[in-house]
Amino acid sequence: MLSTMQDRQLGLPLLLRHAHRVNGKSTVISHGRSTRHVATFAMVAERAGRLGSALEHLGYPRGTVVGTFAGSTQEHLEAYLGIPASGRILHTLNVRLHDDHLEYIARHASDEIFIVDGPNLERFCSIAPRLPGMRLLIVAGKDAPDVPPELSCDVVLYEELLLNGTPEIDWPEIDEREAAIICYTGGTTGLPKGVAYSHRSLWLQAMSLCTANAVGMSCESRLLPAVPLYHVNGWGLPFAALMAGADLIMPDHSMRAEHLLALIDEEPPTIAAGVPTIWSDVLDLVRSRGRADLGAVRTICCGGAQVSQSLSDAYRSMGIRMVQAWGMTETSSVSAVATVPRWAQSEEDRLHYQASQGRVVCGLEVRVASLEGEVLPSDGTSVGEIHIRGPWVTGRYLGADDQSEFQDGWLRTGDVGTVDGDGYVFVADRAKDAVKSGGEWIPSLALEEAIRNHPAVQDVAVVAIPDPRWQERPGAVVVLRPGHVSTSAELSEWLRDKVARWWIPSLWIFSDSLPRTAVGKIDKRLIRQLIRDGVYS
Ligand code: AMP
Repeated sequence: MLSTMQDRQLGLPLLLRHAHRVNGKSTVISHGRSTRHVATFAMVAERAGRLGSALEHLGYPRGTVVGTFAGSTQEHLEAYLGIPASGRILHTLNVRLHDDHLEYIARHASDEIFIVDGPNLERFCSIAPRLPGMRLLIVAGKDAPDVPPELSCDVVLYEELLLNGTPEIDWPEIDEREAAIICYTGGTTGLPKGVAYSHRSLWLQAMSLCTANAVGMSCESRLLPAVPLYHVNGWGLPFAALMAGADLIMPDHSMRAEHLLALIDEEPPTIAAGVPTIWSDVLDLVRSRGRADLGAVRTICCGGAQVSQSLSDAYRSMGIRMVQAWGMTETSSVSAVATVPRWAQSEEDRLHYQASQGRVVCGLEVRVASLEGEVLPSDGTSVGEIHIRGPWVTGRYLGADDQSEFQDGWLRTGDVGTVDGDGYVFVADRAKDAVKSGGEWIPSLALEEAIRNHPAVQDVAVVAIPDPRWQERPGAVVVLRPGHVSTSAELSEWLRDKVARWWIPSLWIFSDSLPRTAVGKIDKRLIRQLIRDGVYS
């Protein structure tokens, strides 16, 4: 028997109607280093409507792909809403990608229109001649430099374009399975791979984020997402804020610690989010200023890379709950969140769950399998590749037939670790980064965590280095804290009672910084290559 329920479609039109009619008084604060704009959700929804209808008037049909090359600004947010809600498809390009990758993804996604803001315009114009499919360039924001006259496409200013639109808020009905937003993976292991989120997947993921087991957002919250909109849609956090009616503080073009701390003081957010590097920089700044608080912030959702125990503890001592989250571009970001269960009474238990990558959120399922594909028990001890499936997990890559990263409807994440009987995920390594020494596996994330706990160490990356006897041995590239000194002998000695003797790195390299990918993750592939090429020695 079919249900008697109405067959209304989930998606961006429904979200925008809610943001306009119900949460209309909540605000978006776009705060740059020297600029500050405040707009209500109602105003943002109307301007998003103008954008969609202006493109309609210009004759760009539904399904047109619109690339954005911009910071975390109000205009970018309007595009993030108005493009998909009007039936077009948004493609947020990562401004930190290499030119060749930008060209590749813009062509691959068939972007025809680009919305580019002032600070990114010069760079974009240098790549634009390589994009023959480009028909319209929309320049957003004040003080944009001039567009070179040789660019052979129409050019319009964003504000002028909006004047040609109507604040159409009677958004179209869109099939919830249609593509709404395209994102590409970072491309560390070859060409970036595209994922097309549907209206339904965006909606469900935003609802999941709002729940107390995830980020826990309501109309009492003020959210500071220190996550660029081009990194997995800003983890979907802006959609969740619009859904919950939480004020949204957009950091504009800077994610630097000084700027974030200024926002924390001037716009008092209650919830913040971002990768560990960002929150580690903020912590250093807070300490250097002799402060012991982060204003009104009570929760920081931290993920995208392993969150160290020392980082969460430091925030905890300031009365802030730092929750680790795990996810990927392919899973629409946050898929597990390390909330500590009520049965964890002892400090040891609390630390155990806090150090996990998180408990899988309701709606998604995880399992562990050997690299050969045999499903292993979710018992917290069987180590294998983590598989995941669910309504906001991709089933394939855009324009690709290759199904090697999928197995029986599950996505093979490439993360190696365990899942326990309560759905807590523990990631020990990326399959490609694993160190196998004499046939035994050394979990690089656990070894990094141990090294990072040394007071002189600011950051560290452990990679496999070839070894004639053991096939592979761990090598550690260490960044020391400013003003601190240490040596390989001292670090090795210090590790002796903390990890198994054979885990102690055979090679120590001291460096000023670690190479990072376009989304700010440590680029271990490049580190391995630099070691091979003798650049690091
Ligand atoms: P991306 O698609 O760029 O977001 O990268 C996804 C990958 O980042 C995951 O497959 C993990 O390898 C890594 N990652 C994300 N969150 C965490 C976390 N909390 N701890 C360890 N690794 C993480």
